[in-house]
Amino acid sequence: MQIFVTGGAGFIGSAYVRALLQDNFAGAVGASVTVLDLLSYSGNRANLPESDSRLRFVQGDITDSALLRELLPGHDAVVHFAAESHVDRSIQSAVPFVTTNVVGTQVLLDEARAAGIGRFVHVSTDEVYGSIAEGSWTETWPLAPNSPYAASKASSDLMALAAHRTHGMDVVVTRCSNNYGDHQFPEKVIPLFVTNLLDGKQVPLYGDGGNVRDWLHVSDHCRGIQLVLEKGRAGEVYNIGGGTELSNRELTGRLLDACGASWDMVRQVKDRKGHDRRYSLDISKIRDELGYEPQVTLDDGLAATVRWYRDNRSWWEPLKRRAELGGR
Ligand code: NAD
Repeated sequence: MQIFVTGGAGFIGSAYVRALLQDNFAGAVGASVTVLDLLSYSGNRANLPESDSRLRFVQGDITDSALLRELLPGHDAVVHFAAESHVDRSIQSAVPFVTTNVVGTQVLLDEARAAGIGRFVHVSTDEVYGSIAEGSWTETWPLAPNSPYAASKASSDLMALAAHRTHGMDVVVTRCSNNYGDHQFPEKVIPLFVTNLLDGKQVPLYGDGGNVRDWLHVSDHCRGIQLVLEKGRAGEVYNIGGGTELSNRELTGRLLDACGASWDMVRQVKDRKGHDRRYSLDISKIRDELGYEPQVTLDDGLAATVRWYRDNRSWWEPLKRRAELGGR
């Protein structure tokens, strides 16, 4: 099996590729992988093995149709992670989000169809649903994205489904909740807070800290994606979540405990513009149809994540220095 992975040098894409190369998925043992990644600020070649006979790494852009035409033929499936992924950056400047997430996805869909690729897994997000006060979203919920990031992901999600309905492409869409784990770029809340605390610096908590997210370990997301790749039905959407719902204040408390710090290390900052209040996914479909079940508890996953950042300063210190991260 030959799998074409876009964005495979980023946080989730690289976790997926490492799992594939370690033969963690029974249905893809021995699979070879081509990674296409632009190595934008959040992509890091060091997230992948330096050399592996089953891995081909190509630095390039998903909007480059000529490059895709050269690379795609011969692959059995595409797993599409590449994206501009940070909500705060999309609030500052939305154009790169439209270019990569919307235009890039469409170019990739067109070239995958031209190359006769079998399955196309489009990795979307629960943020496309907007915000929900009570209950949980099923896959039939209307999309109501609020941030430019979420709106660009909703657009690409719909273009992927349109490629199935219009052209009969074998597309499947996953919508996942918030991921955490090792190798996450230290601008996102968990690695930002952990690395600040490890350096004895304060952490910036948005607004009243009451925003609720469902936290899922990245390895559970990757397991869900592989299940969908192997067994999902064409043209369908699958929510992936089922971690633990926590307010940002509760999450902050857990991170302070894990790093041995107290609440005087927390600085309340002005809320993010248009900040969604609560996300919550109903995952009965993937559970009942495909037998998905998250395996990593939040306690174990957070402890392992904090340990990884403590033990891998050489990975994140240069990234943080370069991006001048730390506050908000
Ligand atoms: P990330 O920012 O860590 O990784 C994105 C990767 O895409 C980087 O390696 C980057 O270099 C690459 N990339 C960016 N623009 C590109 C382009 N034009 N061409 C080729 N490569 C390009 O993001 P992530 O957190 O790993 O997210 C991966 C995917 O999962 C995204 O599609 C995101 O929307 C989705 N998702 C993320 C989460 C989460 O909690 N992080 C949750 C649900 C869904």
